[in-house]
Amino acid sequence: MNTRQLFLSHVGQTSAAPLCLNIVKAEGSKMWDADGKEFIDLIGGISVCNIGHRHPKVVEAIKKQADEYLHIMVYGEFVENPQVQYAKALTDHLPSTLNAVFYTASGAEATEGAMKLAKRYTGRTQIISFKDSYHGSTQGALSIMGSEYWQQAFRPLLPDVMQLRYNNFDDLKNITERTACVFAETIQAEAGVVAPANGWLAALRQRCSDMGSLLVLDEIQCGFGRNGSLWAFEQFGVVPDILLLGKALGGGMPLGAFVADKRIMDSFTSNPVLGHINTFGGHPVSCAAGLAAFHVLLQEGIIASVKTKEKLFRSLLNHSAIRNISSHGLMMAVEFDSFETNKKVIDALIEEGVFSDWFLFAAHALRIVPPLNISEDDITLACSKVIDVLNRLEV
Ligand code: PLP
Repeated sequence: MNTRQLFLSHVGQTSAAPLCLNIVKAEGSKMWDADGKEFIDLIGGISVCNIGHRHPKVVEAIKKQADEYLHIMVYGEFVENPQVQYAKALTDHLPSTLNAVFYTASGAEATEGAMKLAKRYTGRTQIISFKDSYHGSTQGALSIMGSEYWQQAFRPLLPDVMQLRYNNFDDLKNITERTACVFAETIQAEAGVVAPANGWLAALRQRCSDMGSLLVLDEIQCGFGRNGSLWAFEQFGVVPDILLLGKALGGGMPLGAFVADKRIMDSFTSNPVLGHINTFGGHPVSCAAGLAAFHVLLQEGIIASVKTKEKLFRSLLNHSAIRNISSHGLMMAVEFDSFETNKKVIDALIEEGVFSDWFLFAAHALRIVPPLNISEDDITLACSKVIDVLNRLEV
């Protein structure tokens, strides 16, 4: 059996038709398959590789940490330098009330931890989220996912959850003194890049404060410069009580986190002690990689270039088949008339050496979330291939 057949036989699958690209090398905004074919990567592991694949400083940090120690003890017991240094760097770049980092091994676990923290801190049970939101695939996170299609086969899920309409001001009145917390993506990603309407996040913040409910902003996909500022919430004048991080947090290594005020975070330390625990959260190699990536992101002027690159993409993606482009920084949804059209475009682009996919709740939209340091030449080349493909397919 070749590697592809072994993959299909022995690796758990998530769909009946996996892409099966056999990538053997990735660097910057490029990937190469086993036949030496080159791809421009327009999604960077879905918003993971914000500073590109295998940035030399990240690789160096991983090697250095591997020479010192790998796993030594479950999260939270030993003083592990990479965890401490990264927590310090992150909180130095966050508002003062977001000063304590709880590390997890994934984004979904950050969601789970934040749900538990909010329940424990407020003594309340109700959790509110928004339609078309995605916070992960584990049972708790699935319970607050904004899509019945993905939830129905797995019921019963968590009780006492409620979904409101994102960007609907009236719905906010459903947040009450029963509500432990409200989860929102600062920019909804899987909905097809939906930004908060003018004043809506501020109204949400205010309602949560009035009701004593914690506001949890999920920046797992939209954080780390993706939208043109280090954190997306900075652009809307709000500060969450809990911030969820993941994806780019680990610089290409698995890492998640939820960040809160120490006063809130300490609820996990008693009654019961060990309120949330894990083995691999804040793995030293992931933290070393993440810290190196964070420094690169801050020091190489990458975030400052995001809006210019967004404009470049938008100016080059002009075609009658494109119904709309919804974008916020380098998080873009290029909308076609249907999923069928989008799928044809995606497949043809893969043939042409451009890699992208679609959004969970907006299957008609092509996802563009490339490394933030993608070159203008690669943007121009990728866009010209999109236009060529649209002309050739006559969609
Ligand atoms: N929240 C958002 C906004 C996400 O996009 C994702 C992953 O796509 C998650 C949470 C879950 O993260 P993970 O896949 O690491 O569990």
